[in-house]
Amino acid sequence: MRVVVQKFGGSSLKDAERVMEAARKAVRAKHAGSRVVVVVSAQGSTTDDLIAKAAEITAAPSAREMDMLLATGEQVSIALTAMAIQELGERAVSFTGPQVGIVTDTTHRKARIKSIDTRRLVEAVEAGSIAVLAGFQGVDELGDISTLGRGGSDTTAVAVAAALKLAGYEVACEIFTDVDGVYTTDPRVVPDARKMDAISYDEMLEMASMGAGVMHSRSIEFAKKYDVPLMVRNSRSDAVGTWIVPEAPWMTEFPVCGCALAHDEARLVLDGVPDRPGVSHRVFAALAGASVAVDMIAQSVGTGGKAAIGFTVLNADLEKTKKTLAPIVADLGATLSETGKVSKVSVVGAGMRTLSGVAEKMFRALAAEGVNVKMITTGDIKISVLVEEDAEPPSSEDVPGEPVKKAHLEARRAVRGRKALRAVHAAFGLANPRKGAGVPADGTGNGFTPRPTPAVVPGAADREAAIARLGGMEDVLVSGVHLDAAQSRVTVHDLPDTPGNCSRVFTAVATGGILVDMIVQNLTGPGRAELSFTVPRADLPRALQQTKDVVCGIDAGCRVAGDADVAVLYVLGVGMRTHTGVARTMFGALAARGINIAMINTSEVCVGVVVERARGEEALGCLRQAFKLA
Ligand code: ASP
Ligand code: MG
Repeated sequence: MRVVVQKFGGSSLKDAERVMEAARKAVRAKHAGSRVVVVVSAQGSTTDDLIAKAAEITAAPSAREMDMLLATGEQVSIALTAMAIQELGERAVSFTGPQVGIVTDTTHRKARIKSIDTRRLVEAVEAGSIAVLAGFQGVDELGDISTLGRGGSDTTAVAVAAALKLAGYEVACEIFTDVDGVYTTDPRVVPDARKMDAISYDEMLEMASMGAGVMHSRSIEFAKKYDVPLMVRNSRSDAVGTWIVPEAPWMTEFPVCGCALAHDEARLVLDGVPDRPGVSHRVFAALAGASVAVDMIAQSVGTGGKAAIGFTVLNADLEKTKKTLAPIVADLGATLSETGKVSKVSVVGAGMRTLSGVAEKMFRALAAEGVNVKMITTGDIKISVLVEEDAEPPSSEDVPGEPVKKAHLEARRAVRGRKALRAVHAAFGLANPRKGAGVPADGTGNGFTPRPTPAVVPGAADREAAIARLGGMEDVLVSGVHLDAAQSRVTVHDLPDTPGNCSRVFTAVATGGILVDMIVQNLTGPGRAELSFTVPRADLPRALQQTKDVVCGIDAGCRVAGDADVAVLYVLGVGMRTHTGVARTMFGALAARGINIAMINTSEVCVGVVVERARGEEALGCLRQAFKLA
């Protein structure tokens, strides 16, 4: 039995005509032989309007009342959509989140789903109705209405698809929106961005966490965890969109599948941190405790027993971050400073695990544009850099005494970031057709048909058991811990913080065909950066020599050091960044053993740390234990 979950976003339901269009899509899917569940967002800008209404009353609304208010937006949509389907002569029944037992934790406005009881949905679809479900909302253990965070309807849709899969259905989830699919980058910034036919869950997770705002990251986590095939497609056409599916071998043929820009993050530097076990744990455990999701973390090697930890958080969490860390900073005798406006530019691709020269190409493109890189972190399948932005320049369009128009502000934001994004997109030739983006890939055809996901519980006979398995559905999934004891580290201290220096270093290293794995760059002293990267141990002497040769030519004050005795540990899984507890567990376990962390790198699907090689095996064992892996 097949269920299609169709999710319609706010813009796809913005008026009666669009609601009818959505209803027609649902009816057509039903006539094609599927059971259909429709998940809807609030119409148009309803959620923003509701937030504005609250702001007219109070600057600090209670989170519980906000959820009560915001949930009404989706309730309007379900009723109208159900009526529209009925108008087309089909049966439809609407449900709020609480009505179908979407149970969440009690974190209002950012709630996480704990379980879904699919009974009412199943009853409805089996009775021949199209079930119309409110996205974004649930009920907490106290019986109060909760919401899942902005954009949370995607998460509802995929979570419901996952739950129906566990209840015995073959599922697919279609996310209808106002774009044709997932592009190699934001087409508003780079007009020749290309639509992709298929992308892997991990690639999409990295893209989504980097500001490719097509989908809510958490929804992709669910899709990966429960193996739900997703398609992002346009609600105004019948064109096939982009499939988001498990990684296929052809996907690793390209070093980079897409790039993204984000400019809603703030960068903080914790300087003068004692370089001893447990310090990062204290910092990130405190932030996890305050539900602050830390994005990039770059801990540099440091000198004289002191290290610097650079990290980024969402601008919205900046004040909370500073407040949370103030006592710890004082206690450590460190300083916490926040840097000016930054943009983050990232490249993503499953092929970069094995293909060398990716960093080199990226930094060369940035250097050619004169873009200065303030911080670098790498993940398993991504490289992210922070670039400094100018404060927003005034524009002739501004009317004195009036607030700057939103559209004008947008256009002025991230000027360097946009330039950097265009340069990187061009450098990797992302506008050109390739497999999975305009050219048929093995066994897929251009429209990429994913293999159907087999039902798990045949016939859904054992519903109770299926429901039980959904307990803690948003709990993080750590799938493995790996130790790479064959790495060594090169560190450049006091590299002048001017455009092009990283590019020169990586060009030199890439010339030797050396595969650079982890890269961390952090600003240390004023005008100085520290750059560390890992290379296979056998390549260390060559990498050191090449690095020395090039940095000598940059500045006589640079020092290059090598450390052959390091090991890199990776924790792989999903939601590493959004689930603030992963870093906490990881750093906590290492701290408890007195294992010092020399470098840290984070991404959505991977957290990597560098430790002393002699303690690599021990660290591996303790992380396996901490994450309860066999
Ligand atoms: N209506 C909510 C929002 O605007 C949820 C969603 O659209 O997914 O954030
Ligand atoms: Mg919305």
